[in-house]
Amino acid sequence: MRDIYKGYRQEAISLMKKFQIRVWSEILITTVRGEFSGIVLPRSEKDDERHLVIKIASGYNVGIALDSIVTIKELGYREAHYHIPEKEFPFSKGKKRIKLLGTGGTIASRLDYRTGAVIPAFSPGELYGAVPELADICNLSTEKLFAVFSENMGPAQYKVLAKAIEEAVVEGYEGIVIGHGTDTMHHTAAALAFMVQQSPVPIVIVGSQRSSDRPSSDAALNLIHAVYTAAESDIAEVSVCMFGPTSDEYGLIHRGTRVRKMHSSYRSTFRTIGDIPLAMVHAGKIKYLQKGYNKRRSDRTISIMPTFEEKVAMVYYYPNMQADIIDSLVANGYKGIVIAGTGLGHVNKPVYPSIERAIKKGVAVYMTVQTLWGFTHMFVYDTGRDLMSLGVIPAENMLPEVAYVKLGWALGQTYDLVKVKKLMLTPVCGEITDREPYNGYLVFQGGVPEVEEFIRKHHK
Ligand code: ASP
Repeated sequence: MRDIYKGYRQEAISLMKKFQIRVWSEILITTVRGEFSGIVLPRSEKDDERHLVIKIASGYNVGIALDSIVTIKELGYREAHYHIPEKEFPFSKGKKRIKLLGTGGTIASRLDYRTGAVIPAFSPGELYGAVPELADICNLSTEKLFAVFSENMGPAQYKVLAKAIEEAVVEGYEGIVIGHGTDTMHHTAAALAFMVQQSPVPIVIVGSQRSSDRPSSDAALNLIHAVYTAAESDIAEVSVCMFGPTSDEYGLIHRGTRVRKMHSSYRSTFRTIGDIPLAMVHAGKIKYLQKGYNKRRSDRTISIMPTFEEKVAMVYYYPNMQADIIDSLVANGYKGIVIAGTGLGHVNKPVYPSIERAIKKGVAVYMTVQTLWGFTHMFVYDTGRDLMSLGVIPAENMLPEVAYVKLGWALGQTYDLVKVKKLMLTPVCGEITDREPYNGYLVFQGGVPEVEEFIRKHHK
């Protein structure tokens, strides 16, 4: 009997009984906040007791608070079975050996309708069952390191990843793919770009914005592109391979230190900032957009530096930020602060004394820009010059998150601030560039004539 209420508990079950619905009912639900329609999903034992979860037409799962429900009408019943057939991943002589390291995120999850939980689909057999094209590209081995959403990734996980990459490369794998949640993918990409150096093979991070149980999922295509990039590209760097334009025409390969998630829900969310992407990947082809990258070569020995000082903070400046924010970081033992300042790299005057106190206590303070594009230029206004005379160091055109990760990595190696400065300002992998190309910065605005004209011509 209970099975038709899979995973739900007392309060929800009485409500479901009252309105004569069950798991897999198609319902129209009236709440104090309006009407919703969708299919009632099962829940896992660990979920809270206060929501009914429905899958709405867009594919999103929405939790409806029980106490907001006014009435529910059953429109139909549609039981879903979601099973990925396991097939043995075939071995083909002559194809590259690729290692896929899993960390979690949407790409590794599918709804398990048995329990209602989001569970990883990850063994090579399952991957082959779900995306058979992978076997045309390479011989794939997989290893699940973590099963977390990416907000839970951090220095401890970066270190495990760096070691796993080193091991796989030493074992002879010819490319590494890392499955990862998209939300903090750019942090992990930067961390690995610093922690793993001299890689002879590509290290490609991939994720998906929409899970594979949704028709618009980008999981399979991103995975195919990333595995192809790892197997066949010449880019022996840490990169992110994700959906390029709004349709599934091609994937983009972004340098790990210059990439950022820029949209909370679009599949084409990753963008190279301050540069152009490294390459495009589509249908068994790579089109290189840049020349200056580390090339694949077998005579190079990978070296890893998995260090990270966790007492580093990133402070996003806003007008009227109070000085006690900096003071409390210092009082709590922080060793490094990266500020995302306004414009060319500024904060307001009342914060200066706290920055001075921090620097006198030996805290490394670096300035980046919250405009994301462009360089810090702290000589232009006396505010910038004053900050530099206090000891704030401009971090060139490093992205704020990248400077944060790099400072954690550098302070993990030494507290000697002269050495830290040298590490910070010496580019390891494109995180600081001499200049930003004129065609890097292209931010389109709908509504203006030239963009509307472009859309008319290219998106009929
Ligand atoms: N919240 C998820 C994560 O970053 C989103 C995703 O995978 O796209 O882990």
